[in-house]
Amino acid sequence: MHLLNADLHSHSNFSDGTLSPETVAARAAEGGVQLWALTDHDEVSGQQRAREAALDLGMAWVGGVEVSVSFAGETVHVVGLGIDPDNVPLRAGLAATRAGRRERARQMADGLAQAGIAGAFEGALRHVGNPDLISRTHFARYLVEEGICAHTHEVFRRYLTEGKPGYVPHQWARLADAVAWIRGAGGVAVIAHPGRYKFTANEEYALFTEFIAHGGRGVEVVTGSHGSAEQVRFADTAVEFDLLASRGSDFHSPEESRTALGSLPDLPGRLRPVWEVLGERIEGPVPA
Ligand code: AMP
Ligand code: MN
Ligand code: MN
Ligand code: MN
Repeated sequence: MHLLNADLHSHSNFSDGTLSPETVAARAAEGGVQLWALTDHDEVSGQQRAREAALDLGMAWVGGVEVSVSFAGETVHVVGLGIDPDNVPLRAGLAATRAGRRERARQMADGLAQAGIAGAFEGALRHVGNPDLISRTHFARYLVEEGICAHTHEVFRRYLTEGKPGYVPHQWARLADAVAWIRGAGGVAVIAHPGRYKFTANEEYALFTEFIAHGGRGVEVVTGSHGSAEQVRFADTAVEFDLLASRGSDFHSPEESRTALGSLPDLPGRLRPVWEVLGERIEGPVPA
């Protein structure tokens, strides 16, 4: 069970991935994934399709979501695993979290227009699979398509991060609410890719202590966003705070994602994997 090839963080075109849930499932199975979760941003509408595709492929599946949260002036992502996608309060909370995205996108397009890039709202929309979920990633794809940048990372660096023309500050869900929605839907809350946040040591300590106080239980240690130094660092964090450890590629698309589904290193042996507590919430064949 410890060495299960679990990939518990991935995206479809229900958020900012480019592939359908079925295609992501097929790539996971091809990559040798034995337990898979689709974790679209602020959205669970792809979950039933993900579940059916996984079960058809003989791959174990668990419900998932990645909730956008504002904490200490930064955006933090909280993954929910083992959630019931039909849970009504969870769906309402996610709908509220998604609600400001369209207006934010209009403001992002205004900022880009002032920097000389016209038509970004319509251009980004052409890349959107779910009209409820316009994300910075869709703008990044438009700017690459227009030849303004060579790749999406460059778009983020030059246009879409704090202080840049297309950046619009946004208020996401509160940490307490995100954890409550996930727990209320039967899930386990996990801090996603902690190595990506620009927190001071005090802020990071506050994030983990508050997260745990609200009932959060896990942290991503092995993710496509972490190098080997960060894996060691957040393995120590998992031990220090007695958190369950998670593993996931954060796959978005074959062109943009460095990490293929199922290709990550194993969790360090000293950690307790989050899947050991998912139990009945896992559907399909889990290897012994
Ligand atoms: P949003 O929720 O609209 O703010 O978009 C956040 C998404 O942008 C993340 O989930 C990533 O997929 C993507 N993203 C954030 N930073 C970068 C980056 N530096 N390079 C490429 N993609 C990024
Ligand atoms: Mn994303
Ligand atoms: Mn994320
Ligand atoms: Mn993600």
